[in-house]
Amino acid sequence: MTHDAQPTASHFIDGQYVEDTAGDAIAVIYPATGEQIATVHAATPAIIDRAIDSAARAQADWAALPGVERGRILRRAADILRDRNDALSRLETLDTGKPIQETLVADATSGADALEYFGGLAGDISGRHIPLGGGDFAYTIPRPLGVCAGIGAWNYPTQIACWKGAPALAAGNAMVFKPSETTPLCALKVAEILHEAGLPPGLFNVIQGAGPVGAALSTDPRVAKVSLTGSVPTGRKVYAAAAASMKHVTMELGGKSPLVIFDDATLDDAVSGAINANFYSSGQVCSNGTRVFVHESVVGDFLERLQARVAKAVIGDPLDPATNFGPMTTEAQMQIVLGHLDTARAEGARVVCGGHRIERAGYWVAPTVLADVTDAMTCARDEIFGPVMSVLSFTGEDDVIARANDTAFGLSAGVFTRDIARAHRVVAQLKAGTAWINEYNLTPAGMPFGGSKASGIGRENAREALDHFTEVQTVYVGTNPVEAAF
Ligand code: NAD
Repeated sequence: MTHDAQPTASHFIDGQYVEDTAGDAIAVIYPATGEQIATVHAATPAIIDRAIDSAARAQADWAALPGVERGRILRRAADILRDRNDALSRLETLDTGKPIQETLVADATSGADALEYFGGLAGDISGRHIPLGGGDFAYTIPRPLGVCAGIGAWNYPTQIACWKGAPALAAGNAMVFKPSETTPLCALKVAEILHEAGLPPGLFNVIQGAGPVGAALSTDPRVAKVSLTGSVPTGRKVYAAAAASMKHVTMELGGKSPLVIFDDATLDDAVSGAINANFYSSGQVCSNGTRVFVHESVVGDFLERLQARVAKAVIGDPLDPATNFGPMTTEAQMQIVLGHLDTARAEGARVVCGGHRIERAGYWVAPTVLADVTDAMTCARDEIFGPVMSVLSFTGEDDVIARANDTAFGLSAGVFTRDIARAHRVVAQLKAGTAWINEYNLTPAGMPFGGSKASGIGRENAREALDHFTEVQTVYVGTNPVEAAF
Protein backbone atom coordinates (compact mmCIF):
# COMPACT_ATOMS: atom_id res chain seq x y z
CA MET A 1 0.00 0.00 0.00
CA THR A 2 1.23 3.49 -0.75
CA HIS A 3 0.40 7.05 0.32
CA ASP A 4 0.57 6.49 4.12
CA ALA A 5 -3.20 6.47 4.39
CA GLN A 6 -3.60 3.43 6.65
CA PRO A 7 -5.24 4.61 9.91
CA THR A 8 -3.99 3.46 13.31
CA ALA A 9 -7.12 1.31 13.62
CA SER A 10 -10.61 1.08 12.11
CA HIS A 11 -12.65 2.68 14.88
CA PHE A 12 -12.25 5.49 17.42
CA ILE A 13 -14.15 4.78 20.62
CA ASP A 14 -13.89 6.25 24.11
CA GLY A 15 -10.96 8.45 23.20
CA GLN A 16 -8.84 5.78 21.52
CA TYR A 17 -8.32 3.81 18.35
CA VAL A 18 -9.92 0.37 18.48
CA GLU A 19 -9.50 -2.59 16.13
CA ASP A 20 -11.62 -5.70 15.73
CA THR A 21 -10.53 -7.73 12.73
CA ALA A 22 -13.55 -9.99 13.13
CA GLY A 23 -15.51 -7.38 11.14
CA ASP A 24 -15.61 -7.60 7.34
CA ALA A 25 -12.51 -6.10 5.71
CA ILE A 26 -13.21 -2.93 3.70
CA ALA A 27 -10.64 -1.97 1.05
CA VAL A 28 -10.05 1.77 0.81
CA ILE A 29 -9.36 2.71 -2.81
CA TYR A 30 -7.73 5.85 -4.24
CA PRO A 31 -10.27 6.57 -6.97
CA ALA A 32 -7.78 8.32 -9.24
CA THR A 33 -5.78 5.13 -9.76
CA GLY A 34 -7.87 2.28 -8.39
CA GLU A 35 -5.06 1.28 -6.01
CA GLN A 36 -5.82 0.11 -2.50
CA ILE A 37 -4.44 2.59 0.03
CA ALA A 38 -5.79 1.20 3.31
CA THR A 39 -7.95 -1.48 4.89
CA VAL A 40 -10.48 -1.03 7.67
CA HIS A 41 -12.89 -3.47 9.27
CA ALA A 42 -16.63 -3.06 9.62
CA ALA A 43 -17.91 -2.73 13.17
CA THR A 44 -19.08 -5.99 14.71
CA PRO A 45 -22.13 -5.94 17.02
CA ALA A 46 -19.69 -5.81 19.95
CA ILE A 47 -18.01 -2.68 18.54
CA ILE A 48 -21.36 -1.00 17.84
CA ASP A 49 -22.47 -1.74 21.39
CA ARG A 50 -19.22 -0.42 22.84
CA ALA A 51 -19.48 2.82 20.85
CA ILE A 52 -23.08 3.52 21.90
CA ASP A 53 -22.42 2.49 25.48
CA SER A 54 -19.40 4.78 25.87
CA ALA A 55 -21.33 7.67 24.31
CA ALA A 56 -24.24 7.11 26.70
CA ARG A 57 -21.90 7.05 29.71
CA ALA A 58 -20.11 10.26 28.72
CA GLN A 59 -23.08 12.38 27.66
CA ALA A 60 -24.61 13.51 30.98
CA ASP A 61 -21.38 15.04 32.34
CA TRP A 62 -20.79 16.80 29.01
CA ALA A 63 -24.31 18.23 29.02
CA ALA A 64 -23.78 19.49 32.58
CA LEU A 65 -20.82 21.66 31.55
CA PRO A 66 -21.44 25.35 30.89
CA GLY A 67 -21.88 25.86 27.15
CA VAL A 68 -18.84 28.14 26.93
CA GLU A 69 -16.64 25.29 28.14
CA ARG A 70 -18.01 22.92 25.51
CA GLY A 71 -17.55 25.65 22.93
CA ARG A 72 -13.94 26.27 23.89
CA ILE A 73 -13.07 22.66 23.09
CA LEU A 74 -14.83 22.83 19.72
CA ARG A 75 -13.02 26.04 18.82
CA ARG A 76 -9.68 24.51 19.84
CA ALA A 77 -10.46 21.58 17.51
CA ALA A 78 -11.20 24.07 14.72
CA ASP A 79 -7.75 25.61 15.19
CA ILE A 80 -6.09 22.19 14.94
CA LEU A 81 -8.04 21.38 11.77
CA ARG A 82 -6.84 24.62 10.23
CA ASP A 83 -3.22 24.01 11.33
CA ARG A 84 -3.33 20.57 9.69
CA ASN A 85 -5.25 21.63 6.60
CA ASP A 86 -2.51 20.45 4.21
CA ALA A 87 -2.38 16.92 5.58
CA LEU A 88 -6.15 16.66 6.04
CA SER A 89 -6.78 17.90 2.50
CA ARG A 90 -4.38 15.32 1.15
CA LEU A 91 -6.20 12.58 3.06
CA GLU A 92 -9.57 13.86 1.81
CA THR A 93 -8.21 13.74 -1.76
CA LEU A 94 -6.98 10.18 -1.26
CA ASP A 95 -10.30 9.14 0.31
CA THR A 96 -12.55 10.72 -2.33
CA GLY A 97 -10.44 11.51 -5.42
CA LYS A 98 -11.44 15.20 -5.30
CA PRO A 99 -8.67 17.53 -6.56
CA ILE A 100 -6.40 18.94 -3.85
CA GLN A 101 -7.24 22.36 -5.32
CA GLU A 102 -10.78 21.80 -3.97
CA THR A 103 -10.03 19.95 -0.74
CA LEU A 104 -7.61 22.65 0.44
CA VAL A 105 -10.46 25.18 0.54
CA ALA A 106 -13.68 23.19 0.98
CA ASP A 107 -13.28 20.33 3.43
CA ALA A 108 -11.23 20.65 6.63
CA THR A 109 -11.73 24.42 6.36
CA SER A 110 -15.51 24.00 6.13
CA GLY A 111 -15.36 21.55 9.04
CA ALA A 112 -13.34 24.09 11.04
CA ASP A 113 -15.91 26.78 10.22
CA ALA A 114 -18.65 24.57 11.68
CA LEU A 115 -16.65 23.83 14.84
CA GLU A 116 -15.85 27.52 15.30
CA TYR A 117 -19.41 28.62 14.60
CA PHE A 118 -21.09 26.13 16.93
CA GLY A 119 -18.26 26.55 19.43
CA GLY A 120 -19.25 30.22 19.55
CA LEU A 121 -22.94 29.48 19.89
CA ALA A 122 -22.55 26.81 22.59
CA GLY A 123 -22.56 29.46 25.31
CA ASP A 124 -25.68 31.06 23.91
CA ILE A 125 -28.09 28.13 23.86
CA SER A 126 -31.02 29.61 25.71
CA GLY A 127 -34.75 29.26 26.18
CA ARG A 128 -37.66 31.70 26.06
CA HIS A 129 -39.52 33.41 28.87
CA ILE A 130 -43.07 34.75 28.92
CA PRO A 131 -44.99 36.47 31.71
CA LEU A 132 -48.40 34.90 32.46
CA GLY A 133 -49.87 37.75 34.50
CA GLY A 134 -49.94 38.37 38.23
CA GLY A 135 -46.26 37.57 38.53
CA ASP A 136 -46.62 34.05 37.13
CA PHE A 137 -44.36 33.14 34.26
CA ALA A 138 -43.18 30.34 32.01
CA TYR A 139 -39.88 29.50 30.44
CA THR A 140 -38.30 26.88 28.22
CA ILE A 141 -35.08 24.92 28.67
CA PRO A 142 -33.45 23.52 25.53
CA ARG A 143 -32.14 20.09 26.46
CA PRO A 144 -29.75 17.83 24.53
CA LEU A 145 -31.31 14.69 23.07
CA GLY A 146 -28.65 12.28 24.40
CA VAL A 147 -26.76 9.93 22.08
CA CYS A 148 -27.08 10.93 18.41
CA ALA A 149 -26.01 8.88 15.43
CA GLY A 150 -24.43 10.53 12.39
CA ILE A 151 -24.35 8.60 9.12
CA GLY A 152 -22.36 10.10 6.25
CA ALA A 153 -22.22 10.02 2.45
CA TRP A 154 -18.92 9.66 0.58
CA ASN A 155 -18.55 13.01 -1.12
CA TYR A 156 -17.50 15.27 1.82
CA PRO A 157 -16.30 12.95 4.61
CA THR A 158 -14.53 15.57 6.76
CA GLN A 159 -17.19 18.23 6.30
CA ILE A 160 -20.12 15.88 7.00
CA ALA A 161 -18.50 14.61 10.23
CA CYS A 162 -18.03 18.21 11.40
CA TRP A 163 -21.40 19.52 10.22
CA LYS A 164 -23.09 16.80 12.27
CA GLY A 165 -20.66 16.58 15.18
CA ALA A 166 -20.25 20.31 15.89
CA PRO A 167 -23.92 21.22 16.57
CA ALA A 168 -24.57 17.91 18.34
CA LEU A 169 -21.66 18.42 20.74
CA ALA A 170 -22.31 22.15 21.18
CA ALA A 171 -25.82 21.32 22.39
CA GLY A 172 -24.54 18.76 24.92
CA ASN A 173 -25.11 15.52 23.02
CA ALA A 174 -22.73 12.64 22.31
CA MET A 175 -22.36 11.33 18.77
CA VAL A 176 -21.58 7.97 17.24
CA PHE A 177 -20.58 8.71 13.66
CA LYS A 178 -20.49 6.17 10.84
CA PRO A 179 -18.79 7.46 7.70
CA SER A 180 -19.53 5.99 4.30
CA GLU A 181 -17.85 2.64 3.85
CA THR A 182 -16.18 4.00 0.71
CA THR A 183 -14.54 6.99 2.46
CA PRO A 184 -13.78 5.82 5.99
CA LEU A 185 -10.51 7.68 6.71
CA CYS A 186 -11.27 11.36 7.35
CA ALA A 187 -13.82 11.03 10.17
CA LEU A 188 -11.21 9.17 12.23
CA LYS A 189 -8.98 12.25 11.99
CA VAL A 190 -11.86 14.47 13.12
CA ALA A 191 -12.37 12.23 16.18
CA GLU A 192 -8.64 12.22 16.93
CA ILE A 193 -8.46 16.02 16.72
CA LEU A 194 -11.56 16.58 18.87
CA HIS A 195 -9.97 14.48 21.59
CA GLU A 196 -6.64 16.24 21.22
CA ALA A 197 -8.58 19.49 21.72
CA GLY A 198 -9.87 18.20 25.05
CA LEU A 199 -13.15 16.47 24.23
CA PRO A 200 -13.76 13.91 26.98
CA PRO A 201 -13.67 10.27 25.80
CA GLY A 202 -16.87 8.76 24.39
CA LEU A 203 -18.46 11.93 23.09
CA PHE A 204 -17.48 11.54 19.44
CA ASN A 205 -16.99 7.90 18.48
CA VAL A 206 -16.38 6.77 14.91
CA ILE A 207 -17.26 3.27 13.77
CA GLN A 208 -16.92 1.82 10.28
CA GLY A 209 -19.20 -0.24 8.14
CA ALA A 210 -21.81 -0.25 5.40
CA GLY A 211 -25.63 -0.19 5.54
CA PRO A 212 -26.08 -2.81 8.28
CA VAL A 213 -23.97 -0.79 10.74
CA GLY A 214 -26.02 2.32 9.92
CA ALA A 215 -29.18 0.27 10.34
CA ALA A 216 -28.01 -0.94 13.76
CA LEU A 217 -27.52 2.68 14.86
CA SER A 218 -30.94 3.64 13.47
CA THR A 219 -32.74 0.96 15.49
CA ASP A 220 -30.83 0.95 18.79
CA PRO A 221 -33.11 2.22 21.57
CA ARG A 222 -30.20 4.04 23.26
CA VAL A 223 -29.89 6.35 20.21
CA ALA A 224 -32.16 9.39 20.44
CA LYS A 225 -31.56 10.85 16.98
CA VAL A 226 -30.21 9.90 13.58
CA SER A 227 -28.76 12.50 11.24
CA LEU A 228 -28.22 11.01 7.78
CA THR A 229 -26.55 12.42 4.69
CA GLY A 230 -27.27 10.07 1.83
CA SER A 231 -29.64 9.07 -0.93
CA VAL A 232 -33.43 9.19 -0.84
CA PRO A 233 -33.85 5.36 -0.76
CA THR A 234 -31.51 5.14 2.25
CA GLY A 235 -33.35 8.08 3.83
CA ARG A 236 -36.63 6.18 3.61
CA LYS A 237 -35.11 3.13 5.30
CA VAL A 238 -33.49 5.14 8.10
CA TYR A 239 -36.65 7.20 8.68
CA ALA A 240 -38.74 4.02 8.94
CA ALA A 241 -36.22 2.35 11.25
CA ALA A 242 -36.04 5.44 13.47
CA ALA A 243 -39.84 5.57 13.74
CA ALA A 244 -39.99 2.36 15.78
CA SER A 245 -38.37 4.04 18.78
CA MET A 246 -39.62 7.54 17.80
CA LYS A 247 -36.15 8.95 17.22
CA HIS A 248 -35.57 12.47 15.98
CA VAL A 249 -34.22 12.57 12.44
CA THR A 250 -32.41 14.96 10.15
CA MET A 251 -32.32 13.82 6.54
CA GLU A 252 -29.93 15.46 4.06
CA LEU A 253 -30.78 13.60 0.87
CA GLY A 254 -30.46 13.89 -2.88
CA GLY A 255 -31.57 16.45 -5.42
CA LYS A 256 -32.19 17.31 -9.05
CA SER A 257 -32.03 21.03 -8.66
CA PRO A 258 -32.94 23.63 -11.29
CA LEU A 259 -30.63 26.44 -12.37
CA VAL A 260 -32.56 29.06 -14.35
CA ILE A 261 -30.66 31.40 -16.66
CA PHE A 262 -32.71 34.33 -18.00
CA ASP A 263 -31.93 36.18 -21.23
CA ASP A 264 -30.67 39.25 -19.32
CA ALA A 265 -28.13 37.29 -17.25
CA THR A 266 -24.44 38.12 -17.46
CA LEU A 267 -23.78 35.07 -19.59
CA ASP A 268 -20.17 34.41 -18.56
CA ASP A 269 -21.21 34.49 -14.89
CA ALA A 270 -24.05 32.11 -15.71
CA VAL A 271 -21.60 29.76 -17.44
CA SER A 272 -19.33 29.89 -14.36
CA GLY A 273 -22.34 29.24 -12.12
CA ALA A 274 -23.36 26.25 -14.24
CA ILE A 275 -19.80 24.84 -14.14
CA ASN A 276 -19.68 25.19 -10.34
CA ALA A 277 -23.16 23.66 -10.12
CA ASN A 278 -22.23 20.57 -12.16
CA PHE A 279 -18.52 19.82 -12.29
CA TYR A 280 -17.15 20.71 -8.84
CA SER A 281 -16.24 17.43 -7.08
CA SER A 282 -16.94 15.79 -10.44
CA GLY A 283 -20.63 16.48 -9.92
CA GLN A 284 -20.84 14.50 -6.66
CA VAL A 285 -22.64 17.27 -4.80
CA CYS A 286 -26.21 16.84 -3.56
CA SER A 287 -27.22 20.46 -4.17
CA ASN A 288 -25.98 20.59 -7.76
CA GLY A 289 -28.06 22.49 -10.31
CA THR A 290 -28.18 19.69 -12.86
CA ARG A 291 -31.27 20.87 -14.75
CA VAL A 292 -29.99 24.01 -16.40
CA PHE A 293 -32.93 25.93 -17.92
CA VAL A 294 -31.63 28.55 -20.37
CA HIS A 295 -33.83 31.12 -22.09
CA GLU A 296 -34.30 30.06 -25.71
CA SER A 297 -32.88 33.34 -27.05
CA VAL A 298 -29.48 32.74 -25.39
CA VAL A 299 -29.21 28.95 -25.25
CA GLY A 300 -27.01 28.72 -28.37
CA ASP A 301 -24.59 31.36 -27.11
CA PHE A 302 -24.60 29.75 -23.63
CA LEU A 303 -23.71 26.31 -25.02
CA GLU A 304 -20.91 27.71 -27.17
CA ARG A 305 -19.30 29.56 -24.26
CA LEU A 306 -19.82 26.57 -21.97
CA GLN A 307 -18.19 24.15 -24.38
CA ALA A 308 -15.13 26.41 -24.70
CA ARG A 309 -14.82 26.63 -20.91
CA VAL A 310 -15.25 22.88 -20.31
CA ALA A 311 -12.45 22.23 -22.82
CA LYS A 312 -10.16 24.05 -20.36
CA ALA A 313 -10.76 21.55 -17.51
CA VAL A 314 -7.45 20.23 -16.21
CA ILE A 315 -7.91 16.49 -15.82
CA GLY A 316 -5.06 14.75 -14.05
CA ASP A 317 -3.58 13.53 -10.78
CA PRO A 318 -5.86 15.01 -8.08
CA LEU A 319 -2.81 15.51 -5.84
CA ASP A 320 -1.35 17.88 -8.46
CA PRO A 321 -2.38 21.45 -7.53
CA ALA A 322 -2.99 22.23 -11.23
CA THR A 323 -5.73 19.58 -11.56
CA ASN A 324 -9.28 20.92 -11.31
CA PHE A 325 -11.31 17.90 -12.36
CA GLY A 326 -11.07 14.50 -10.66
CA PRO A 327 -12.56 11.00 -10.85
CA MET A 328 -15.77 9.49 -9.51
CA THR A 329 -15.28 8.31 -5.94
CA THR A 330 -16.26 4.71 -6.67
CA GLU A 331 -16.22 2.35 -9.61
CA ALA A 332 -19.89 1.59 -8.97
CA GLN A 333 -20.77 5.30 -9.23
CA MET A 334 -18.80 5.57 -12.47
CA GLN A 335 -20.83 2.67 -13.93
CA ILE A 336 -24.10 4.33 -12.79
CA VAL A 337 -23.11 7.59 -14.49
CA LEU A 338 -22.07 5.81 -17.72
CA GLY A 339 -25.41 3.98 -17.70
CA HIS A 340 -27.22 7.33 -17.43
CA LEU A 341 -25.25 8.62 -20.42
CA ASP A 342 -26.37 5.62 -22.52
CA THR A 343 -29.98 6.25 -21.50
CA ALA A 344 -29.72 9.97 -22.29
CA ARG A 345 -28.43 9.27 -25.80
CA ALA A 346 -31.12 6.64 -26.36
CA GLU A 347 -33.81 9.11 -25.26
CA GLY A 348 -32.60 11.79 -27.71
CA ALA A 349 -30.31 14.08 -25.71
CA ARG A 350 -27.47 15.61 -27.73
CA VAL A 351 -23.97 15.25 -26.31
CA VAL A 352 -22.28 18.66 -26.60
CA CYS A 353 -19.09 17.51 -24.87
CA GLY A 354 -17.91 14.53 -22.83
CA GLY A 355 -20.35 11.65 -22.66
CA HIS A 356 -17.75 8.94 -22.08
CA ARG A 357 -15.32 7.32 -19.67
CA ILE A 358 -11.84 8.83 -19.65
CA GLU A 359 -9.44 6.03 -20.46
CA ARG A 360 -6.97 6.07 -17.61
CA ALA A 361 -6.53 4.05 -14.42
CA GLY A 362 -9.25 4.81 -11.86
CA TYR A 363 -12.88 5.85 -12.22
CA TRP A 364 -13.09 8.80 -14.58
CA VAL A 365 -16.06 10.22 -16.49
CA ALA A 366 -15.48 13.22 -18.79
CA PRO A 367 -17.30 16.46 -17.92
CA THR A 368 -20.48 16.13 -19.94
CA VAL A 369 -23.00 18.62 -21.30
CA LEU A 370 -26.28 17.29 -22.69
CA ALA A 371 -28.42 19.62 -24.82
CA ASP A 372 -31.92 19.36 -26.35
CA VAL A 373 -33.02 17.79 -23.07
CA THR A 374 -36.76 17.61 -22.41
CA ASP A 375 -38.51 17.44 -19.05
CA ALA A 376 -39.54 13.81 -19.51
CA MET A 377 -36.04 12.45 -20.16
CA THR A 378 -34.46 10.36 -17.41
CA CYS A 379 -31.44 12.70 -17.30
CA ALA A 380 -33.83 15.54 -16.37
CA ARG A 381 -35.64 13.54 -13.68
CA ASP A 382 -33.17 11.27 -11.85
CA GLU A 383 -30.24 12.32 -9.71
CA ILE A 384 -27.11 11.20 -11.62
CA PHE A 385 -24.49 12.29 -9.04
CA GLY A 386 -21.76 12.71 -11.60
CA PRO A 387 -20.36 15.34 -14.00
CA VAL A 388 -23.42 15.51 -16.22
CA MET A 389 -25.22 18.80 -16.97
CA SER A 390 -28.60 18.67 -18.71
CA VAL A 391 -29.48 21.85 -20.61
CA LEU A 392 -33.15 22.59 -21.31
CA SER A 393 -34.51 25.72 -23.01
CA PHE A 394 -37.51 27.80 -21.90
CA THR A 395 -39.57 30.75 -23.07
CA GLY A 396 -41.55 32.33 -20.20
CA GLU A 397 -41.06 32.96 -16.48
CA ASP A 398 -44.23 31.20 -15.26
CA ASP A 399 -43.54 28.27 -17.50
CA VAL A 400 -39.99 27.78 -16.24
CA ILE A 401 -41.06 28.07 -12.58
CA ALA A 402 -43.65 25.31 -13.10
CA ARG A 403 -41.12 23.11 -14.87
CA ALA A 404 -38.42 23.77 -12.27
CA ASN A 405 -40.82 22.68 -9.52
CA ASP A 406 -41.98 19.58 -11.39
CA THR A 407 -39.71 17.19 -9.49
CA ALA A 408 -39.91 14.98 -6.43
CA PHE A 409 -36.83 16.74 -5.01
CA GLY A 410 -36.55 20.18 -3.39
CA LEU A 411 -32.99 20.67 -2.22
CA SER A 412 -31.73 23.75 -4.06
CA ALA A 413 -32.25 26.14 -6.94
CA GLY A 414 -30.40 28.93 -8.72
CA VAL A 415 -31.38 31.96 -10.78
CA PHE A 416 -29.16 34.10 -12.99
CA THR A 417 -30.67 37.44 -14.03
CA ARG A 418 -29.79 41.13 -13.72
CA ASP A 419 -33.44 41.97 -12.97
CA ILE A 420 -33.46 42.15 -9.16
CA ALA A 421 -37.26 42.09 -8.87
CA ARG A 422 -37.53 39.03 -11.07
CA ALA A 423 -34.77 37.27 -9.14
CA HIS A 424 -36.62 37.57 -5.83
CA ARG A 425 -40.03 36.89 -7.40
CA VAL A 426 -38.77 33.67 -8.97
CA VAL A 427 -36.90 32.24 -5.97
CA ALA A 428 -39.94 32.91 -3.79
CA GLN A 429 -41.88 30.50 -5.99
CA LEU A 430 -39.21 27.77 -6.24
CA LYS A 431 -39.78 24.86 -3.85
CA ALA A 432 -36.21 24.47 -2.64
CA GLY A 433 -34.52 24.59 0.76
CA THR A 434 -31.77 26.84 -0.59
CA ALA A 435 -31.77 29.26 -3.53
CA TRP A 436 -28.86 31.23 -4.95
CA ILE A 437 -29.19 34.40 -7.03
CA ASN A 438 -26.29 35.00 -9.43
CA GLU A 439 -24.25 32.42 -7.48
CA TYR A 440 -24.31 28.69 -6.87
CA ASN A 441 -23.43 26.21 -4.07
CA LEU A 442 -22.31 28.54 -1.27
CA THR A 443 -22.98 26.89 2.10
CA PRO A 444 -21.53 28.95 4.97
CA ALA A 445 -21.87 27.61 8.53
CA GLY A 446 -24.11 30.50 9.55
CA MET A 447 -26.96 29.81 7.12
CA PRO A 448 -29.30 26.81 7.29
CA PHE A 449 -28.94 24.11 4.66
CA GLY A 450 -31.38 21.32 3.84
CA GLY A 451 -34.15 20.17 1.57
CA SER A 452 -37.86 20.12 1.10
CA LYS A 453 -39.99 17.35 -0.43
CA ALA A 454 -37.98 14.13 -0.99
CA SER A 455 -34.70 15.98 -0.44
CA GLY A 456 -34.99 15.81 3.30
CA ILE A 457 -36.16 16.88 6.70
CA GLY A 458 -34.55 19.39 9.03
CA ARG A 459 -31.63 21.71 8.47
CA GLU A 460 -27.90 21.58 9.05
CA ASN A 461 -25.77 24.62 9.93
CA ALA A 462 -26.91 27.86 11.58
CA ARG A 463 -29.05 28.08 14.72
CA GLU A 464 -31.58 25.77 13.08
CA ALA A 465 -29.14 22.86 13.48
CA LEU A 466 -29.06 23.44 17.26
CA ASP A 467 -32.86 23.25 17.32
CA HIS A 468 -32.58 19.85 15.65
CA PHE A 469 -30.14 18.60 18.29
CA THR A 470 -32.22 19.77 21.27
CA GLU A 471 -35.75 19.48 22.61
CA VAL A 472 -37.37 22.00 24.86
CA GLN A 473 -38.80 21.47 28.30
CA THR A 474 -41.46 24.02 29.19
CA VAL A 475 -41.69 25.11 32.82
CA TYR A 476 -44.66 27.02 34.34
CA VAL A 477 -44.11 28.91 37.59
CA GLY A 478 -46.98 29.95 39.85
CA THR A 479 -46.27 32.72 42.34
CA ASN A 480 -49.82 33.11 43.74
CA PRO A 481 -52.17 31.02 45.92
CA VAL A 482 -53.46 28.07 43.85
CA GLU A 483 -57.18 28.26 42.95
CA ALA A 484 -59.29 25.13 42.44
CA ALA A 485 -62.99 24.47 41.64
CA PHE A 486 -63.57 22.75 44.96
P1 NAD B 1 -26.13 6.21 0.38
O1 NAD B 1 -27.55 6.49 0.66
O2 NAD B 1 -25.80 5.01 -0.44
O3 NAD B 1 -25.31 6.02 1.74
C1 NAD B 1 -25.29 7.02 2.71
C2 NAD B 1 -24.89 6.41 4.04
O4 NAD B 1 -25.96 5.60 4.52
C3 NAD B 1 -23.66 5.52 3.99
O5 NAD B 1 -22.89 5.74 5.16
C4 NAD B 1 -24.26 4.13 4.00
O6 NAD B 1 -23.40 3.13 4.52
C5 NAD B 1 -25.46 4.32 4.89
N1 NAD B 1 -26.54 3.35 4.73
C6 NAD B 1 -26.86 2.63 3.63
N2 NAD B 1 -27.94 1.85 3.89
C7 NAD B 1 -28.32 2.11 5.16
C8 NAD B 1 -29.37 1.65 6.00
N3 NAD B 1 -30.27 0.76 5.57
N4 NAD B 1 -29.47 2.14 7.24
C9 NAD B 1 -28.58 3.08 7.69
N5 NAD B 1 -27.56 3.53 6.95
C10 NAD B 1 -27.43 3.07 5.70
O7 NAD B 1 -25.54 7.54 -0.24
P2 NAD B 1 -24.12 7.80 -0.90
O8 NAD B 1 -24.11 7.06 -2.19
O9 NAD B 1 -23.05 7.55 0.10
O10 NAD B 1 -24.16 9.36 -1.15
C11 NAD B 1 -24.75 9.93 -2.25
C12 NAD B 1 -26.13 10.45 -1.93
O11 NAD B 1 -26.06 11.32 -0.82
C13 NAD B 1 -26.70 11.26 -3.07
O12 NAD B 1 -28.07 10.99 -3.23
C14 NAD B 1 -26.51 12.68 -2.61
O13 NAD B 1 -27.37 13.60 -3.20
C15 NAD B 1 -26.70 12.55 -1.14
N6 NAD B 1 -26.06 13.65 -0.44
C16 NAD B 1 -26.83 14.59 0.18
C17 NAD B 1 -26.26 15.67 0.83
C18 NAD B 1 -27.09 16.73 1.50
O14 NAD B 1 -26.57 17.46 2.33
N7 NAD B 1 -28.36 16.88 1.20
C19 NAD B 1 -24.86 15.79 0.86
C20 NAD B 1 -24.10 14.82 0.23
C21 NAD B 1 -24.72 13.75 -0.41
